[in-house]
Amino acid sequence: MSRREYVSRFPCAEPGCPEKSYTVAGTQRERADDYKAQRLRPWRCYRHTRPDEVLAADNLERTATMTAGRSQYAPNWRRPDEMEYLSGQYWLGDSETSVGSGILHGPGFKAIAGDFPIGTKLIVTARIELPSEEGES
Ligand SMILES: [Zn+2]
Repeated sequence: MSRREYVSRFPCAEPGCPEKSYTVAGTQRERADDYKAQRLRPWRCYRHTRPDEVLAADNLERTATMTAGRSQYAPNWRRPDEMEYLSGQYWLGDSETSVGSGILHGPGFKAIAGDFPIGTKLIVTARIELPSEEGES
């Protein structure tokens, strides 16, 4: 017997953005939680979540600093009005809204927070270099 699925699609909260989320709940209760979460914190697409972080012609470089630290609280993804405790060691950002991760990676590096002493800084810089006017091959 197949299990019923409850599909919800929510538009990005940024006016004019065509992106939509796709959420599948296994029960009506979970679907109700998804709608409640959407009301409390409307979904935003990848581009419109912290849009100042998107590299662009007028935003060519970004640097982020994370610090190895102990446990933290983070919003429960299905019930964002509730915080859940996460044990362990994480890379923590310097703002209250940044949610850390035990593992960070990008092109050419992997950093596991538990491999370093508390207070260790991980500083990551991304820089765009546009082609010159003459063009490069
Ligand atoms: Zn969007």
